Order: sequence, then structure tokens, then C-alpha cells
Amino acid sequence: MTDIKAKFIVDGMLGKLARWLRIFGFDTEYFSGKDKYFLLWKARKEGRIILTRDHNLFIQNQDICIFIKSEDLKHQVRQIKKDVGIVFDNDLFFSRCNVCNSILEHKNLSDVIDNIPEYVARTHKDFSYCRSCGRIYWRGTHYERMLKFIESIQSDED
Ligand SMILES: [Zn+2]
Repeated sequence: MTDIKAKFIVDGMLGKLARWLRIFGFDTEYFSGKDKYFLLWKARKEGRIILTRDHNLFIQNQDICIFIKSEDLKHQVRQIKKDVGIVFDNDLFFSRCNVCNSILEHKNLSDVIDNIPEYVARTHKDFSYCRSCGRIYWRGTHYERMLKFIESIQSDED
């Protein structure tokens, strides 16, 4: 099973996983509420796979849920890769806001110069902008670390 366009909804205990799935470019909603019926309704309505650490929820809704076994992010992503067959696409990395899941827009320095620190303006010229929450992203030092992490997830070593 290979599903490059898989969409997810992630429940309360997996916030970090949600952020990373967005960084990989997957449409991932985060659900922190208590109402499991709403979670199930939303997942079915929007065609999302539920990723959960709630074993009862999983047992009762195995057609739409994946029970995430590990607490370790790397193992979590690998499990999803194996169970859902997601394929990582470099072109989609960093294409979504990791805070609110919206698709980012490309911006030039002149578009964002009033809203970024001066040292960033001096050293970067490409930016991504989230229309929903107003965040501006640039490829700073953390970007290299993220790429390393992506590589480590894709390899099978620990
Ligand atoms: Zn956002």
C-alpha cells in the first residue's frame, strides 16, 4: 500500500508527531479535544487516518485508526511509513506551516523585511509565509538540523 497523499488527524498525545508530519508536507490536523465522536466524525468526513496512542479508540475503529506504538518520534514516523506506505517527497518538505497546517506561500525579502529580525534580512532572501497564522519561515540553522533528522528517519538505523 502506497499513499503519498495520505491525510492525518493526530490526537492529543502526539503533538510533536503532528508538527513533523506537516514539515514533511502531509496534511495533518491536530485534535486535542476530549470528544472522540467528533474526532471520528471529522476523520471520516475529511478522509483522514487517525493516529492515536489511545488503544480503546484503536480497537473500536481499526478501519480508520493506527495505534502508534512508540513514544519515540523516529519510530513513530517509521511505523506510519510502514503501515500507511507514505512516500516522502523532497518537494513537499517545509511546504506547510508546522503550527497550523496551512500551505505556505513563497515570499521575497522585500515582502517580509518589516517583519523579520535585521540579521535575518542580511543573510536570507527566500521566505515562506503562512497566511493563516502570519508566521514567516526562513532556512536558518535549525533547517540543517531538520534535514539531518529527516535523513535519519528515512534510513533504518537508530
Ligand atoms: Zn500557520
